[in-house]
Amino acid sequence: MKGEISVQTQHIFPVIKRWLYSEKDIFLREIVSNACDAVTKHKRLGDLGKTDDICDSYRIDVNVSKENKTITVSDNGIGMSREDVDNFINKIALSGALDFINKYEGENSDSGIIGHFGLGFYSAFMVSDTVEIKTKSFDGSESVHWACNADGEFEMETGDRETRGTDVILHLTDEEFAYLDSVKLKGILTKYCGFMPYEIYFSDDENKDGEKINDTTPLWQRNPSDITDEEYIEFYKKTMGDYLDPLMWIHINADYPLNFKGILYFPKQKNDYETLESKVMLYYNQVFVADNIKEVIPEFLMNMKGVLDCPELPLNVSRSYLQTNTYVSKVSNHIAKKVADKINGTFNTNREGLEKIWDDVCVYVQFGCLRDRKFYDRVNGSVLYKTVDDTYVTLDEYFDGAEKKGNVYYASSKELQGYYIDLYKKQNKKVLLMDKVIDVQFNSLLEQQNEGLKFVRVDADLADALGAKNSEDKTTLCEFIKNAVDKKELNINITSLEDDSFPALINIKEDSRRFSDMMKMYGGDTMGIPTEETLVVNSANPLVIRLEKAVEDGDDNANDLAKYLYLLALVSSRTLSGEEMKEFISLGVKLLSK
Ligand code: ADP
Repeated sequence: MKGEISVQTQHIFPVIKRWLYSEKDIFLREIVSNACDAVTKHKRLGDLGKTDDICDSYRIDVNVSKENKTITVSDNGIGMSREDVDNFINKIALSGALDFINKYEGENSDSGIIGHFGLGFYSAFMVSDTVEIKTKSFDGSESVHWACNADGEFEMETGDRETRGTDVILHLTDEEFAYLDSVKLKGILTKYCGFMPYEIYFSDDENKDGEKINDTTPLWQRNPSDITDEEYIEFYKKTMGDYLDPLMWIHINADYPLNFKGILYFPKQKNDYETLESKVMLYYNQVFVADNIKEVIPEFLMNMKGVLDCPELPLNVSRSYLQTNTYVSKVSNHIAKKVADKINGTFNTNREGLEKIWDDVCVYVQFGCLRDRKFYDRVNGSVLYKTVDDTYVTLDEYFDGAEKKGNVYYASSKELQGYYIDLYKKQNKKVLLMDKVIDVQFNSLLEQQNEGLKFVRVDADLADALGAKNSEDKTTLCEFIKNAVDKKELNINITSLEDDSFPALINIKEDSRRFSDMMKMYGGDTMGIPTEETLVVNSANPLVIRLEKAVEDGDDNANDLAKYLYLLALVSSRTLSGEEMKEFISLGVKLLSK
């Protein structure tokens, strides 16, 4: 025997109610999108010359009545004949949408018809105990009145609707009376149907005329070349609820096979919690599906805000579906590429504009480069680096076009390393400002990618950077200083520098400092870790010359002078401890009074 498994409505009803949709609110989206489909179908019949009844005032009305405890969705679309109701409503899962597409458009055409489950209508039963349909088909057949209870028992009879179209009337169950609240319902309608393609009006007992709630031609559906910056900014503020202008945006219009549209904005960074949350709203042919869909955009762009319209994704998407879907990862890659193109484009055509927003944008770029090697390869030439003078250079410019080899000097704080920065400036050396946590990792990436390139903090390799002639063999002075400051293990490098303006400074080796910074960042104990500190003593400086003489002469002040010189070096590289500070002051007073 051969046959087909049949499904009994009374069994499947509870399943739909409990499991079909995780969120109840979407019943409204389903019913309103069916109404939109009905309008699209009628419009299409007109275009195909299959009906003379040409209409130029399609609309959908959503009415909530506290008195009747009903929500009614009305449209003036294609309507249904008795056979249609029997085929598409009475028989679950025989999608009428598919039937229409097969009949009139061939399977693969881009119909813009939303439904494709063949179950959406029944979501009405998630909130209703009775659902009524009053409908009249475009084909002139008798109108139909259909009513069905929560057990799936229906009655169908001749109806009294006189004009083409359909009313779907939901009689809410006692538990769902909250949906009778106009503010709540309008909120849901705006959220899910705010960009649907036909005008939707909301009315209630007070406002019977109805208020239009949607924008039928959302910005992302329009041609980017016809849209002004002001329109992009206005759309952003309105849709994303931000009061600040966005930094920049990309408008994506991806063709086959990805086939999605969207506008993504870089928001201005605010130091508050709110911006940590991504806000990308996902649409399906202008029907809202979900927000905070992290999976669709690359992780490093998680702060971006905007809209994506992906008709390739099912309306009823789940997290796990998105996480494992290859289409989704292709969309995400495409977005990353577009962002790189945008950065490169702005770099090439509006460098000044890019510099203006760089402070805010650079974290995305750095994070992107770290996470996605392809993104790094694409955008690498357009990456800007801020200098301590608030100008911006590329790495190529830093090396004046020469091969990117050797040291790149940077400061992590203009205040703490101010003294060092000035010394570099006197030597006409460019110093970059790298004060963000991510800079450390980003620099390592660049070092890996460019052999021979090294990022060196201004206090890491002073003698070399400032053109030490050569390190001098002054063992006596060296030993004297070590004794004076009571630090036997102190590394001392006595050298004559071109710049004789300072007596001594502290050097901390780049690698050892990076390591201890990293330990600190992860909350590790840095006490036992030796940081390779060197006291660089500048033998060209008059004070050092005097010290040397005092040591030679056995002068009483030599000890104090050596100590003071050491503290002076410390104070220009870090905050002194309480003890050090006390000593620094009393020694200063003592020496000055002589
Ligand atoms: P789908 O829309 O995915 O096909 P539904 O269960 O939502 O599935 O709807 C079943 C069918 O009922 C639709 O395909 C359509 O043929 C018909 N239908 C539902 N609502 C309307 C309406 N407002 N006007 C005309 N036909 C409708």
